[in-house]
Amino acid sequence: YLDEKLDMVRKVDFLQYRSPDLPTWCPGCGYFGIVDALYRACRELALKQEDIVTVSGIGCSGRTPIFINSYGFHTLHGRSIPVATGLKLAREDLTVFAVAGDGDALGIGGGHLPHVARKNINITFLLFDNSIYGLTKGQSSSTTPYEMRTSSHPVGNPDTPLNPIKLALAYGASFVARGYAGNPQGLKEIIKEGILHQGFSFIQILTPCVTFDKENRTWKNLKENVCDLNIRIDDKNMETAMRAAENEPYGCGIFFQDKQRPHYQEILRHLNRDD
Ligand code: SF4
Ligand code: MG
Repeated sequence: YLDEKLDMVRKVDFLQYRSPDLPTWCPGCGYFGIVDALYRACRELALKQEDIVTVSGIGCSGRTPIFINSYGFHTLHGRSIPVATGLKLAREDLTVFAVAGDGDALGIGGGHLPHVARKNINITFLLFDNSIYGLTKGQSSSTTPYEMRTSSHPVGNPDTPLNPIKLALAYGASFVARGYAGNPQGLKEIIKEGILHQGFSFIQILTPCVTFDKENRTWKNLKENVCDLNIRIDDKNMETAMRAAENEPYGCGIFFQDKQRPHYQEILRHLNRDD
């Protein structure tokens, strides 16, 4: 009976991208909104399911490829970026997503971000940023606010959080954007831009961990604070982007995009030319 129902659901337009496996995330988790936006972006760009690969690391975000009806690779902790890089270098024709949480991407795998950005590998990276380690039960991560109480810091986090947008800009990512899991339509537009961008696309997604964060990145706080960015999409001004990254912690939109810069495989073709 359930299989029949799922078949019916999958026939609805973008839901062809949803896998038969029902997500095991906690009810109310922001990740549902993220995969919804991803399905819609793939649909609107008419991507074939067999041409999509999603690569994940470890954490609640690690399960993402299981819930997308295409190819996927659930790799080691922090390693979605290097595996996605290798995949893209071997199969340039595929649309490759790398996904990771804040702990996975900026803690354990933090050393990979500068290199994928400076090489301008043509993949789309989705940072599921709920500012906490969810799967391991609520420890402080690299984006947990200072003084927030967590399971690893019950009297308050002593560490200063990283600013993922500033990091991506400083590392030289050619596309830097932020979206919100509670606005799948808006997030879909950003993901589409990220896919179409020829180079490394960095997309931070603000999303709540409803189970282990009751005070910071909650739906209530996000709803009250998330807004559109105040800078123009074609603004290639690094100074403006950095200022927005500093001053607009909840601003969503494209901070920076360099459409002229060649991506890695274009550079290789240029270096290997026969002249
Ligand atoms: Fe989502 Fe948090 Fe549950 Fe993980 S633990 S599925 S991040 S709500
Ligand atoms: Mg997290």
